[in-house]
Amino acid sequence: MTEEQSLSCDILVVGGGGAGLAAAIEARTHGAKVMLIEKSPELGGTTAWSIGSFSATQTPHQLSEGIVDTPDEHFEDMPKFAGPQADRDNPKLRRIFVDNANDTLRWLMSMGVEFFGPMPEPPHRKPRMHNVLPNSRAYIHHLGKHAQKIGVEIRCNSRANKFLMENGRVVGARCEMPRGITPVHAKAVVLASGDYAANRALKAKYISPEVSLVDAMNPNATGDGHEMAFPLGAKVLNGDVLSGPTLRFIPPPRKSIDRMLPPWPIVTKFMRFALKYLPDRLLRPFVLGFTTTSMAPELDLFTHGALLVNKNGERIIAEPAKLGLVIASEPDKIGYVILDRDSAARYSKWPNFIATAPGVSYAYLDDFQKTRPDIFSKADTVAMLAGALDMPPDVLKTAVEEHNEDCEYKIFAPPFYALGPAKSYVVLTDGGLAVDEDHRLLGENDTPVPGVYAAGSAGQGGLMLKGHGHHIGWAFTSGRRAGRNAAREAGINMI
Ligand SMILES: Cc1cc2nc3c(=O)[nH]c(=O)nc-3n(C[C@H](O)[C@H](O)[C@H](O)COP(=O)(O)OP(=O)(O)OC[C@H]3O[C@@H](n4cnc5c(N)ncnc54)[C@H](O)[C@@H]3O)c2cc1C
Repeated sequence: MTEEQSLSCDILVVGGGGAGLAAAIEARTHGAKVMLIEKSPELGGTTAWSIGSFSATQTPHQLSEGIVDTPDEHFEDMPKFAGPQADRDNPKLRRIFVDNANDTLRWLMSMGVEFFGPMPEPPHRKPRMHNVLPNSRAYIHHLGKHAQKIGVEIRCNSRANKFLMENGRVVGARCEMPRGITPVHAKAVVLASGDYAANRALKAKYISPEVSLVDAMNPNATGDGHEMAFPLGAKVLNGDVLSGPTLRFIPPPRKSIDRMLPPWPIVTKFMRFALKYLPDRLLRPFVLGFTTTSMAPELDLFTHGALLVNKNGERIIAEPAKLGLVIASEPDKIGYVILDRDSAARYSKWPNFIATAPGVSYAYLDDFQKTRPDIFSKADTVAMLAGALDMPPDVLKTAVEEHNEDCEYKIFAPPFYALGPAKSYVVLTDGGLAVDEDHRLLGENDTPVPGVYAAGSAGQGGLMLKGHGHHIGWAFTSGRRAGRNAAREAGINMI
């Protein structure tokens, strides 16, 4: 590549997902000249792949429903999702998150983002989960538009690959841009480059060689920012923590209409109205018909009667949390979830759902039957179910018999159901670069590296974000703060 003339700005933001857009808008709002670079042809990142839930307390939604809740209670409840990993959390960053999540949600709303909720999600003691409407692309649509309006210079197809340094200070980044390699000089840089779910080497190093072979949901999540930061002495915290390898039902054959629904106010207002007032039987098929892309079966299914088989009908045995990993070495890396009448009945109403879902928050068996006929099968006998799935009937029958010998919840009452194919994916990795409470990147001896901040997944700093709605909340909350702090360090007169 040829070397282009250099460019300059006050704040360079690397990455155009949720954290990067939030950082760019805040820095620009505070008076900085901001350039945001995104390596893909369009903004979005994993943020645009997500379901889009956002958990927070004291929001307009909670208040309008009379829910009395506090950041303190949120702070106490978050570790309950992490189980034995709870003590590996970064409580200082968790405090920052819970104290600022409400303000961030309102800030997003001020830019036109609409939410439905709050929905319950135990062990949260109060309903805190807010779901973006009509889908997660709304974040990118509204923030991208706002960033452009206020004068953030957005350059897609532009990839940062190395920091520019001067006297131990980061002063920009070397970027691969459409016209060639371009040094972009900046007074400070915000790294908002996402996670490393699609980086085999980092997955092998921090997690395991087996996991490194599992595909990522977002193939662009290649941990570039992490690799850029290593020469500065940066380190990854909780590098082995991840979401996945997770079973996810394959996407619908057509492009999901949900992904295409425009986030216009008229659409989101109608959805909000419909979600609140339409009877469930009319609403669910409508909303879910559009929103079942990449939904994940809850692991709880497998402790309460569901059986997982491979494409040949053979039983896949592993503790539920390991099923995603094990399936990656099965033929075509796919599996089918088998249920009988009783387990189907169990997963037909709250609190036993098959998967979380955009819009309606939870999807039950009936929702799959109505809206995903491509992954739903039902038959009066196990042999007939095998026929519908193109599996040898005796193999599936053996799998069911073995399951019934071992498990408390049997598969014996017709009709029998199958959901699938489900594939295995690494959804995201939680190993973030170490940062301080101002989101400054920490280098050698845990000392902040002057001129560089990290936010979102890149700057997760050991924070445990288990449960739903915490990753997105962190991406926007930390992005805003990092953008603001970077502008301050750059000596911008804060407006
Ligand atoms: C299927 C799925 C569902 C999810 N659902 C939820 C949910 O409902 N709620 C929740 O809280 N979380 C959810 N998450 C997690 C959440 O989406 C992410 O944790 C969050 O969006 C991360 O935001 P980010 O801005 O840090 O990274 P990203 O959104 O990934 O943005 C990073 C951007 O940086 C760009 N980039 C990377 N390297 C470079 C480089 N060298 N130069 C320039 N650009 C670069 C990338 O292309 C990308 O656009 C989900 C994730 C997945 C995969």
